[in-house]
Amino acid sequence: MKQALAVIPATLLSDIFRLTPLQKAGLTKLGIASADDLLHYFPTRYTSIAEIKNIANLLKGETVTIYGHIVSSKTAKGFRSKIPMTEAVIEDATGRIKCVWFHQAYISKMLVPEMMVKLSGHVEERNGALYLANPELVRTNELPLDTSGTLFKRDQNETVFYPVYSETKSVTSRFIYHHIQKLFSKGVLEDIVDPIPEEILSRYHLPTLRAALVWIHAPEKEWDAQAARKRFAFEEVFMIQLARQRERALTKEHSGFKIVPDQTALEKFTARFPFKPTSSQTRALLEIFSDFKKGIPMARLLEGDVGSGKTFVAAVSAYATAMSAPSDNKFGNLQVAYMAPTEILAEQHFKSFIEYFHGTNIEIGLLTGSGAKKFPSKTDPGGATKVSKTQLLKWVSEGKLPILIGTHALIQKSVQFKNLGLAIVDEQHRFGTMQRGKLVKKDASLPHLLSMTATPIPRTLALTIYGNLDLTLLDEMPSGRLPIKTELVTKSNRRIMEEHMRAEIKSGRQAYVICPRIDEPDPEKELALQAKSVTAEAKRIAEDIFPEFSVGILHGKMKPDEKEWVMEEFKKGAIHILVATSVIEVGVNVPNATMIAIEGAERFGLAQLHQLRGRVIRSNHQAYCYILTDSSSEVSQKRLKALATAKNGFELAELDLTLRGAGELGGGKQWGISDLGMEAIKNIKMVEAARTEASRIIAEDPELSKYPLLRDSVDKNHRGTHWE
Ligand code: ADP
Ligand code: MG
Repeated sequence: MKQALAVIPATLLSDIFRLTPLQKAGLTKLGIASADDLLHYFPTRYTSIAEIKNIANLLKGETVTIYGHIVSSKTAKGFRSKIPMTEAVIEDATGRIKCVWFHQAYISKMLVPEMMVKLSGHVEERNGALYLANPELVRTNELPLDTSGTLFKRDQNETVFYPVYSETKSVTSRFIYHHIQKLFSKGVLEDIVDPIPEEILSRYHLPTLRAALVWIHAPEKEWDAQAARKRFAFEEVFMIQLARQRERALTKEHSGFKIVPDQTALEKFTARFPFKPTSSQTRALLEIFSDFKKGIPMARLLEGDVGSGKTFVAAVSAYATAMSAPSDNKFGNLQVAYMAPTEILAEQHFKSFIEYFHGTNIEIGLLTGSGAKKFPSKTDPGGATKVSKTQLLKWVSEGKLPILIGTHALIQKSVQFKNLGLAIVDEQHRFGTMQRGKLVKKDASLPHLLSMTATPIPRTLALTIYGNLDLTLLDEMPSGRLPIKTELVTKSNRRIMEEHMRAEIKSGRQAYVICPRIDEPDPEKELALQAKSVTAEAKRIAEDIFPEFSVGILHGKMKPDEKEWVMEEFKKGAIHILVATSVIEVGVNVPNATMIAIEGAERFGLAQLHQLRGRVIRSNHQAYCYILTDSSSEVSQKRLKALATAKNGFELAELDLTLRGAGELGGGKQWGISDLGMEAIKNIKMVEAARTEASRIIAEDPELSKYPLLRDSVDKNHRGTHWE
């Protein structure tokens, strides 16, 4: 049904349809404003049309959908209750049934005889007659979908798919379906242009945008819906790849600082460490220095399993940078920003750097939400003193402080480096949207970027989200590390574990106990949550299990200086057992802690459990990880067992992707990918295809000037989702 003037996709829905304030609010909540937004609101699943029943076959107690026409309708009052209501009689080819809407007398005004309707509701019985109580009502006379099946060529054997959308109050799945169909009939597809070049579509047998929109919202058969989803999944991954690769191409056009480290000074610096670098670490540094020399800003991801020694690589890179003057030598030496996701971690890096840089004349600052510090201190040359933030920031902006370590606090407006040569981001997956350009003044050169992560993610995901970064792997553990012994502990062998822990602690080791919660659940609110709490568990351990040892607590709600004090005590060995939440998950480094017991392990993702376990592979003592769970679910058991056998984090990430789905990778949202896009992530062929096409286009036209549609789409949806 074409109309004189087709609706343009960018039109606001409120200019096309009459919407109630509640519907407007609901649509806003779903992120839908324009016709185009609605068209891109995809079904979460499809139900078979077979669920639609004939009136003659209805049974009491069922929830059903029927199609029919109105025979009659009237307002009425409840027999005893006097509730105002609508009563209507609906008929299909097989019979008639009464429908009742309590409290909704106005509905009768909307119903006229012969009107085609679709009703969904509960079948009830009164005085031996069946009726539908408060069914949801949709007029279908404008819809192709009715009992005569004009949309779906139904033959007896074919199941037909009907889309189901996720809803909010006031915007039901039916509302969405209905309005999309209306948009189609208003000719909205006429103005739809496909951003993906035709040759790419035909190369991978993907439907055009127009076809895919029809197929995803009104599939004739299952295959249609699948083809459409495949196209949109490809599109999403392709667009992300394009955006990342364009970033990378454009970054390379910037000038960057040329840093040529002095070999002898470097050797002297690395000799300060109490260990010999692994060959992976040496290789990583060579790659970084080769980037440094090129005079274009580095964009490198250092990916290494927990405990592989990323901090060492960061420290040597920082040293090389802090020792260099920019080529024109106008400003004094280059500066380094080192960012960590938590205060505990920033503090820890600060302390390590104090050790590494002691006696080098290189000053180091620490800036977190709770204050500022500087090393070396005037009074104690081997330590740090508190300084005012203002003073610290002044040094930073005058270029007088070579290395600044900190949390998110580093990217506030007030922090302006004079001469930033290198930005290091630790556990980069913990940071959201950011641009390294933010760290420097407007027309300053872009600093080199060293991103570090231990998050083992499947290769397909890495290829997609790290398309803008060069990758360096630290695929080797420091020598002499013994593989962690990981054991699943059930109620019956809990005592054995406790005795083993006791013996180890007596021989000088320390332990972590991880609980999923901080406090005891409020019995009113959270009856369902039986997870162990840090506070209760610490009490139980200290009083009943290990009265002879000292037990400490660490969780995210504690004040920064409390946390710092506890970490300090634990490091010193004054605390034997640290009961903590997963705040210790990232980066915490106490080599003497060689045991970790994780309560309620089924609540954690495998990658996260692996990170937690990584806390105890920091020395050459045999380390132990105890996985405690009360869950007997098969999947849960399988996952947790995998933890005991998998060789590394990457294996685990792949496993979680297959066993529990993409959601377990922290959800696609963390990576800026929709659930549909994550379907593509499971498919290496599709990801590689998207990557190949994106590289080809960017190589030939980095600004996308020949592809204005692609450029708009990339600009609109995929900017700044990642470090660039
Ligand atoms: P991660 O990669 O998880 O950040 P860290 O940098 O915290 O790992 O290093 C883990 C531990 O290993 C630290 O105690 C560090 O001093 C030590 N370490 C790093 N490199 C080596 C090495 N080549 N040989 C021995 N120990 C090392
Ligand atoms: Mg680390």
